[in-house]
Amino acid sequence: MDISVKAPAKINLTLDVLHKRPDGYHELEMVMTTIDLADRIDLTETSQGIQLESTSGFVPFDDRNLAYRAAALVKQRFSVNKGIHIVIHKKIPVAAGLAGGSSDAAATLKGLNQLWDLGLTMEELAELGLELGSDVPFCVRGGTAIARGRGEDLTPIAPPPPCWVVLAKPQHGVSTAEVFGALNLDHKQERPDLDAMVQALETRNFHGVCHHLSNVLEQVTLTAYPKVARIKERMSAFGAEGVLMSGSGPTVFGLVSRESLARRVVNGLRGFCRQVYAVRMMGGLEGLPLDQIRT
Ligand code: ATP
Repeated sequence: MDISVKAPAKINLTLDVLHKRPDGYHELEMVMTTIDLADRIDLTETSQGIQLESTSGFVPFDDRNLAYRAAALVKQRFSVNKGIHIVIHKKIPVAAGLAGGSSDAAATLKGLNQLWDLGLTMEELAELGLELGSDVPFCVRGGTAIARGRGEDLTPIAPPPPCWVVLAKPQHGVSTAEVFGALNLDHKQERPDLDAMVQALETRNFHGVCHHLSNVLEQVTLTAYPKVARIKERMSAFGAEGVLMSGSGPTVFGLVSRESLARRVVNGLRGFCRQVYAVRMMGGLEGLPLDQIRT
């Protein structure tokens, strides 16, 4: 039997690092939302083992791949003695701050739960996902949420108003661990105003959402990669109404209320930046039957 699962990317509307915990993780507080840019994970049952293919040469094909690890975790935890062939149709840029690997892992967990009739709830899948990575629980649930703790303590909130998201990723990737390592918590320039962002979302105030975009990791990545700052400037100059780096970067996103303006921003960035996309904000559309397609 086969199953295909959509694995959407996320962006951070806010990202704050509260402190470093005794266990080595950072205590985070962020608003995350899903966008309409997604990988597709095809799962085919086999007699044994885990085989993985990807349309992108930039991802590992062995147990370093998060989708592979998700399958290995499920097989081991639930003593499944069948095998799985995983194909990742990669659309989300790799090492970009868009949680591509985490979303692939979450989609694999959801797909295997269905394929092997494990009967796990969303909460149980999210808990399992946390063993694979901090962003995986959010990717299991999707939508729009405040994420606290390492990212696993999720509170669903109102989605952003319908709009366009222009994404621009420079050629280089960024290591999340290195960005967190270089963060100086005493020299935070600007702290996100979480209450103001939640209020803007609840009142469907597009300009309020744009105004309160904020990410404390931005300064670290901007200092190391000045090109990211130039992309931000250019995106604003071409008319994006709110601009921010997502996660640890280096992808910059711009929120745009009209499709014609989104086209103008994309055209303004072409040639200047290698990967440029305009996609719709999804925020609250997950969970529709389209999310998973049985074949
Ligand atoms: P996050 O926003 O959660 O920090 P990211 O978007 O910055 O994630 P990913 O695209 O998930 O980064 O890739 C980070 C690293 O994970 C890459 O170096 C890549 O080699 C590895 N990786 C493992 N599995 C995957 C996968 N399925 N897709 C993409 N990258 C993967």
